[in-house]
Amino acid sequence: MAFRLYNTLTQELEVFHPLQGNTVRMYTCGPTVYNFVHIGNFRTFTFQDILRRWLRYRGYQLNHVMNVTDVDDKIILNAAKENKSIEDYTASFTRSFFEDAAALHLEQPEHVAPATKHIGVMVDAIEKLAAKGCTYTSDGSTYFRISSFPQYGKLSHNDFSGIRAGARVDVDEYDKADARDFVLWKGKKGDEPSWPTPFGEGRPGWHIECSAMAMQYLGGTLDIHAGGVDLVFPHHENEIAQSESITGRQFARFWLHSEHLHNESQKMSKSLGNFFTLRDLLKEGYQPEAIRYLLASVPYRKKLNFTFEGLKAAARSIERLRDFELRLATSRFAPGCDGALSERSREAIRQFEEGMDDDLNTAEALAAIFEYVRTINTAIDANKFCEDNRWEAAKVLEVFDSVFDVLKPYEAKVAPEGSGTSNGSGITDADVEARISERTAAKKSRNFKRADEIRGELLEVGITLEDTKDGVRWKRK
Ligand code: AMP
Ligand code: ZN
Repeated sequence: MAFRLYNTLTQELEVFHPLQGNTVRMYTCGPTVYNFVHIGNFRTFTFQDILRRWLRYRGYQLNHVMNVTDVDDKIILNAAKENKSIEDYTASFTRSFFEDAAALHLEQPEHVAPATKHIGVMVDAIEKLAAKGCTYTSDGSTYFRISSFPQYGKLSHNDFSGIRAGARVDVDEYDKADARDFVLWKGKKGDEPSWPTPFGEGRPGWHIECSAMAMQYLGGTLDIHAGGVDLVFPHHENEIAQSESITGRQFARFWLHSEHLHNESQKMSKSLGNFFTLRDLLKEGYQPEAIRYLLASVPYRKKLNFTFEGLKAAARSIERLRDFELRLATSRFAPGCDGALSERSREAIRQFEEGMDDDLNTAEALAAIFEYVRTINTAIDANKFCEDNRWEAAKVLEVFDSVFDVLKPYEAKVAPEGSGTSNGSGITDADVEARISERTAAKKSRNFKRADEIRGELLEVGITLEDTKDGVRWKRK
């Protein structure tokens, strides 16, 4: 069976293939860096990591962009409270996010795009919308007129035909089924950070960053757009309205949404205060691989209730697999090969693949592995397992671990709270990528002075850049 994914847009399981060639163009909504990211957020990012790995297992290459929201109401408020610029305030939380992600063995997207480094493309996008008559200005802010996009509601499957034209909203999140014209550009208030534009000094609304950056890096039509289920409305609905109004084309073919991590039957969230950060759990002595396993083990479209019992059970499951791996590696077996057990190993891989192909059904995939381990342990006890069955069993574990990545103990890499950096140079790979994107954007707009400054700043922290015909390569000194 082919690889199928549930598409929120069509409300159906659909066979997945990229639109062009072998590369999957994917955009995922990243963190808002106003605090430490919690493990609820990491459930969504873990799902995206599992998706990346399964796409690769199925032979595809990835071009994945993730944004970092580094300007919004909360950031501005918190930075002001601490008397910091928003750059200083968000830099340490951005670093912490990537350290935590690395501690959970989450792969880095090919591009990390901080919003404040992409104001130019957002301004361009808003100007295009204005030229098409989709915007209006009120009190110095620019709004998207949703009545200009008759398909509004197609992702969240809400019927907005009775909306009140002209009702507007300035905040980025609002009630379900309450469609209102949303803000694209917020007019400057007080001494908030702001950028000059032809339509006034101000700062972007939240939704425009994702449309503008996705299209900048990936073109008009993405293969996959993903995020947590709370983003379906209004954020992703608004992204569609913005992007499709600009291009006249479908913005994303597959929309994937992961369900929430709950704590005591309530969504884990910063605003409710019922959250744990990764650092909270590591400080208590829990292993990052157990946290990753727990977050990945329940299929992404099902709610997952976080409990410490569940976390301990995850650690025990990993232990069982590691014991099995050790037993395989260290036991002596009779020479030869048991044909039925060879077939059993192939069957285990088939079942694992069937589970993952079925909309990333990780529970099915895990069940296949544990069932297999039980069978093989019994066969070893009965002296049926032979020397040439050993590598076949190792292959089953290798396939499992190419997705779950929990068999080898992790090095604990998370720095103590607030300390910030993950390596000697004080700059993470993600930061380097972000600076390179900024430099590329500066060159594109012929701001060569700025581009050279960025190269110089990176050199100062030991990063050298090389411009090649395939893009920018970089290395640490
Ligand atoms: P934020 O930093 O709030 O912008 O959220 C980053 C990502 O985490 C988004 O895709 C959210 O949908 C997702 N998210 C937020 N809370 C949870 C939760 N409790 N469980 C799973 N995902 C979440
Ligand atoms: Zn987004």
